[in-house]
Amino acid sequence: MDVLSSAEINLSHVYAARARIQGHVCRTPLRLAPALSELVGVEVRLKLDCMQDTGAFKIRGAMNSLLSLDPTQAERGVICVSTGNHGRAVAYGAKKLGIPAIIGITPHVPPIKVRAMESLGADVRILGDDQEAAQHAADQLIEEEGYTEIHPFDHAATIAGQGTLGLEVIEDMPDLDTLICPLSGGGLLGGTSLAVKTLSPRSWVTGVSQARGPGMIDSIRFGRPVSVPETPTLADSLAGGIGLNNRHSFQLVRDYVDDFVTVTESQIADAMAWLYRHERIIAEGGAAVGVAAVLNDLAGTLGPKTTIVISGGNVDMDKFTRIVEGWRPED
Ligand SMILES: *Cc1c(COP(=O)(O)O)cnc(C)c1O
Repeated sequence: MDVLSSAEINLSHVYAARARIQGHVCRTPLRLAPALSELVGVEVRLKLDCMQDTGAFKIRGAMNSLLSLDPTQAERGVICVSTGNHGRAVAYGAKKLGIPAIIGITPHVPPIKVRAMESLGADVRILGDDQEAAQHAADQLIEEEGYTEIHPFDHAATIAGQGTLGLEVIEDMPDLDTLICPLSGGGLLGGTSLAVKTLSPRSWVTGVSQARGPGMIDSIRFGRPVSVPETPTLADSLAGGIGLNNRHSFQLVRDYVDDFVTVTESQIADAMAWLYRHERIIAEGGAAVGVAAVLNDLAGTLGPKTTIVISGGNVDMDKFTRIVEGWRPED
């Protein structure tokens, strides 16, 4: 079944994930974007995982991982490192399933996301100044305390869970020409491109990252995982590298994704404001990068049936309002 990639994850894992998480995660709409379609001259749809439970797609992979634990692992508890949305998803799922959870964060995680995790009863701890340092501290806790890690992007269960988004897209639009999707560690796009390309090999898939530290794109261009400096960005949910010992997502993204694009801070802000004004959608920075690429004509020729993934909507409302009112960050 998995003819394109040498990775260990294939479409059957994505189907298994879907069966496992059904009832815990909702099927999000693939909605026509009339204003954007009008602007670019092709039918553009938005896959609205900003409407997903916990406000981002991350619940797909987190739930699949939590539901795959054996009873001993579930009793000992789980740990994860997160830029916010993954931690919130793990906290939510862990609470639902009665599993103790430690969420490791950095000081860069926006307060709105920290509060959401704490209000779910998770043990939220700043474990390091950047994602890599936090991961290192988490590794130590795992070794000492026997917690099970729920990885934000590089475990098979996470990737298979995120791949259910791609499955839904291709089921709702079997004649998909172009898919444009946010890209950071590559759990979302690794799983989604695997599902889309296996079921519809002719679909063209583009990954979009922030120009400030695009860890996966730098790694793909370099030919192996490289570290990137973690710079503050409006796309906070895309910050961080892919891990120098990356096991799955690098390979999947390299093998299944056709093109890569980066967008600047002001382009991200413009896209957030545009989406709200013209489509009435609240997207966080990391979720607006696909629309930013399209608005700036960076995503190449769009096929007659195009889908852009809106991966989350967890943005601080004051910040969001300022952006809609015209505030722009420096590039
Ligand atoms: C985590 C996240 C991404 C990136 O997903 P990866 O699997 O790390 O590539 C994109 N958008 C949002 C809203 C996220 O929370």
